Amino acid sequence: MNNIVWHDHKITRAERSSNKNQKPCLLWFTGLSGSGKSTIANALDVALHERGYHTFLLDGDNVRHGLCNDLGFSDNDRVENIRRVGEVCKLFADAGLIVMSAFISPFTSDRRMVRKLFPAGEFIEVFMDAPLETCESRDPKGLYKKARAGEIKHFTGIDSPYEVPSHPEIRLDTSQNTVEECIDSLIAYLIDRKLIASK
Ligand code: ADP
Repeated sequence: MNNIVWHDHKITRAERSSNKNQKPCLLWFTGLSGSGKSTIANALDVALHERGYHTFLLDGDNVRHGLCNDLGFSDNDRVENIRRVGEVCKLFADAGLIVMSAFISPFTSDRRMVRKLFPAGEFIEVFMDAPLETCESRDPKGLYKKARAGEIKHFTGIDSPYEVPSHPEIRLDTSQNTVEECIDSLIAYLIDRKLIASK
């Protein structure tokens, strides 16, 4: 590290994003498996794309196929997984994009680590606050069934803790609200914070 010097780019992140008439930010979706992170992040991606914004979505499972395919689910590997994801999200935001990420990210310290990479107001923690019973009854990937059968160890919500965010910027309960209602709340937040224009 000692001989590595940071190069300042001639084009700043503000210039890159103003070219696109948007402000960079990261919407960090966190919550139990099945709470709706991927569904809502994808629907928001579509809604923003249709409005002409330049977005990118990082999904937990997809990242583990490539960048993080050397990592498992030990405590150290989970921390490293989130650290890498946070750094990648930062690079996309530096490129001027509105970034969405969908990772269970059960630990407060990991989410705080990513938050610290972003200027104030650009890290938006979206807590998917659906009850465990709802998530388990959905079981979109059949993982709860396997976890209950003891086939998956350290499964968040079953035998590994989920630390509830104390001050998320946005809280959504997909057991109470439809996908459309969740998207309306997110778009309203982005407009209110002047991250996107009202149209
Ligand atoms: P996660 O990414 O948090 O693991 P997913 O988005 O993969 O969760 O799964 C959520 C499941 O719940 C999907 O099968 C989705 O169709 C279903 N679902 C039902 N109602 C809602 C809702 N209001 N919002 C989001 N997902 C919902």
